[in-house]
Amino acid sequence: MTFSELPTPCYVVDEALVKRNLEILHGIMERTGAHILLAQKAFSMYALYPLIGRYLCGATASGLYEARLCAEEMVKPLAQQGIRCENHIFSPAYREADFAEILGYCDHIVFNSWRQVEKLGGRARAAGKSIGLRVNPECSTQEGHAIYDPCAPGSRLGVTKKNFAEGIQPGKGVELLDGLHFHTLCEQDSDDLEKTLDAVEEKFGEYLPRMKWINFGGGHHITRDGYDIPRLERCIRRMQEKYGLEVYLEPGEAIALNAGFLIATVLETQETDLRMCGRLHLAILDTSAACHMPDVLEMPYRPPLQGSGEPWEKPCTYRLGGPTCLAGDIIGEYSFDQPLGEGDRLVFEDMAIYSMVKNNTFNGVPLPFIALRQEDGHCRIVRQPVYEDFKSRL
Ligand SMILES: *Cc1c(COP(=O)(O)O)cnc(C)c1O
Repeated sequence: MTFSELPTPCYVVDEALVKRNLEILHGIMERTGAHILLAQKAFSMYALYPLIGRYLCGATASGLYEARLCAEEMVKPLAQQGIRCENHIFSPAYREADFAEILGYCDHIVFNSWRQVEKLGGRARAAGKSIGLRVNPECSTQEGHAIYDPCAPGSRLGVTKKNFAEGIQPGKGVELLDGLHFHTLCEQDSDDLEKTLDAVEEKFGEYLPRMKWINFGGGHHITRDGYDIPRLERCIRRMQEKYGLEVYLEPGEAIALNAGFLIATVLETQETDLRMCGRLHLAILDTSAACHMPDVLEMPYRPPLQGSGEPWEKPCTYRLGGPTCLAGDIIGEYSFDQPLGEGDRLVFEDMAIYSMVKNNTFNGVPLPFIALRQEDGHCRIVRQPVYEDFKSRL
């Protein structure tokens, strides 16, 4: 099938574009010896896990299901080819009932508090796992998105310097720790990582010499144009050389940044009475911001759309909305050279990440198809939406 023959709505992930990102990440691993993992939270399209596992060191999970997906779709198939992949996990608090199964999948377990280490660390150690504790360097480097800032006051994510010092008692699990983990960035460059590392060293530096590894978390926008990779590599070497640590990074976005699309069809167009710089038109699409691209409303942001301009930049400006009955199910306002018509196809860009992992069937709206554009340009549908997607959740 070709791209233009795909049914809509459809997420299309482009293998060549993912590979381009993976090559950049692999280059960093080769030059520095750092270990890079896929954070599945951002991108869990497991059709590509074997490819990702060949370029990176493995994946990290936020809970039992992601850990299992990595075990089934990355670790196992690659083990059959003689390639070893790591399976890490971090969770703000583990459920007692899940923990035995998690130990069956994961090799690195990161805890969020001393209490979790005390409760579960011994079992993880007895199972031969590498154990980490997430720290909170209390160093906010992002302004725009407060909900993505784990360093905001009162954060539940990571142990602060004060709590670290109070909890570090013999017999309570400190001797179990192999590594420290921090995750504080979101779509940021390596200058913010450098600042964060300064804070990590200032607050936790005295504990680093006794660790085996440090995990820089995610939020590194490494595959974005203009990202300062040499500075990132200096940050990695600094931890390797000063403390003899293995360095892990676990980006999510960077793996599939700008590597996917969401194709939609215009169902209907309407006129509004609104006049801004001209008449504002409406178009109702077969894709929904609320259901298929929830970050558009949550973050919020306006996704790039192929062939469009800023509102009023081109002659025809439309507000694009979804087929739900939520008034605010608006993707954004875009301008076009020609009026839109029923049946026109629109291609939203950068739709691989935080899209299919977050979608939902609110209003009974069907999920999009998922397709893979292979390197030869051929498109293959890997998932069809079905009524059961909706019914089985309820
Ligand atoms: C979200 C998250 C990541 C991935 O973040 P990106 O912004 O997608 O790179 C990595 N590690 C942890 C602990 C996270 O919560």
